[in-house]
Amino acid sequence: MKFPSTLLLLQQLLSSQRQAAAFTPARQIMSQSKLSASTSTEDTTSNPNSPIAVNPLVANVKVSATVQIFSNVKQMQAEGIEVTSLCVGEPDFPPPQAVLDAASAAILANDTRYTAVTGTAPLRQAIAKDLKDRKGVVYDPNTEIVVGNGAKQCVYQGVLATAGPGDAVLIPAPFWPSYPEMVALAGAKPIVLETKETDGYLLTPEGLRSCLEEHKDENIKLMILCNPSNPTGGVHSEERLRELANVLEDYPNIAILADEIYERLVYTDTPADEHVSFAAISENMYERTMTINGFSKAYAMTGMRLGYMAAPAPLAKAATTIQSQVTSCAGSVSQAAGVAALKDVKEEEMEANVKIMREKRDYVIGRLDGMEGVALEVPPKGAFYVLPDVSGYYDGDDTQLCLDLLTKKRLALVPGTSFGAPGTVRISYATSLEELEVAMNKLQEFLEESKSE
Ligand code: PLP
Repeated sequence: MKFPSTLLLLQQLLSSQRQAAAFTPARQIMSQSKLSASTSTEDTTSNPNSPIAVNPLVANVKVSATVQIFSNVKQMQAEGIEVTSLCVGEPDFPPPQAVLDAASAAILANDTRYTAVTGTAPLRQAIAKDLKDRKGVVYDPNTEIVVGNGAKQCVYQGVLATAGPGDAVLIPAPFWPSYPEMVALAGAKPIVLETKETDGYLLTPEGLRSCLEEHKDENIKLMILCNPSNPTGGVHSEERLRELANVLEDYPNIAILADEIYERLVYTDTPADEHVSFAAISENMYERTMTINGFSKAYAMTGMRLGYMAAPAPLAKAATTIQSQVTSCAGSVSQAAGVAALKDVKEEEMEANVKIMREKRDYVIGRLDGMEGVALEVPPKGAFYVLPDVSGYYDGDDTQLCLDLLTKKRLALVPGTSFGAPGTVRISYATSLEELEVAMNKLQEFLEESKSE
């Protein structure tokens, strides 16, 4: 079979990441970031013919495997190869009409200038109102909201605002792959706190306390809490958040970056399943929390690059300072669209999207349940991902499994190793039910064939 050039490239990238990470306890993965970095960036940093050296901070950072796989899939599709892709974190529905209309109107009205660094006043006001109405947290739109070019930028600014060389940042695993890399870019050390599949990959107060104790001399400045989680879809309940907050009370120097970008995508059966913002847990936690949210997932505005941080003034100010020197401000057209998203999109439209996503989740869970050797201990309650355990296949080598799956069946999933969860694969079900059916058939066939080989 002809091996497309894009697949070869992808194989090289994933293999280099696997060499560094596979079969290594997650806790050690990050302390090996130097090893993985030298593997992944060798080609660009050690050109013996060039006097130019890449900043070692960058040399220590890995390219996002998800983004890389996705671009390879796009390239394969452009080459005419049919690929089923469940690898990207992007809703398949379009942004609401009100958002598109507002973006068009903004362009026609020549609303195309720089805005204030922290965003336009109408957008900051709309965000503050939304947070107050839906989440019960109050922020001053003038000093405590910073709008950025996507939640990703806001997360990075939050990391940079609180941690630097000599500091450490606590990251629960499985994690969004950008967290440890952002921490490394800030010159700080990521400390990975493993969670258990049997706990639904949620943090437990005992696990948190023992990790904080174990690393108490390492100057932990920040803890990241992704709730709902990418890649597990797990949602920490209000009760669990309170238990975690109780532990954090004993560590007053640790700020919390609460990445809540998936908070509108939560599948509730009882009021206890409702998503609660970490900043709403207590006054003390509010004072230490940077809430990150954005428009990519809830409103399918991924390409508009719009997100925000809401935080007490000193933290918001630090993020503003960084942003003022990096991007100045988010796009004016996107910001106008963001105002429409918060003000004009009806709650029923949002709920309808959640309902559809829930059906897709149920379909995927049902199909995985019928596959031998695939385990999903706790069904995810939010976001649009599942992270089943497939360690019974390929001796737990999820990277090779994903590569072969792409080569043999043209199905793209992301290896769990990229998320600090070796032996798993991440499936994004934010696509059509038809595509999901094709994908699940391919996965089932592939696993059955692998078993009998
Ligand atoms: N945080 C998490 C957990 C994500 O999964 C993503 C996107 O995949 C982001 C932040 C960034 O979102 P954006 O920059 O598109 O707003």
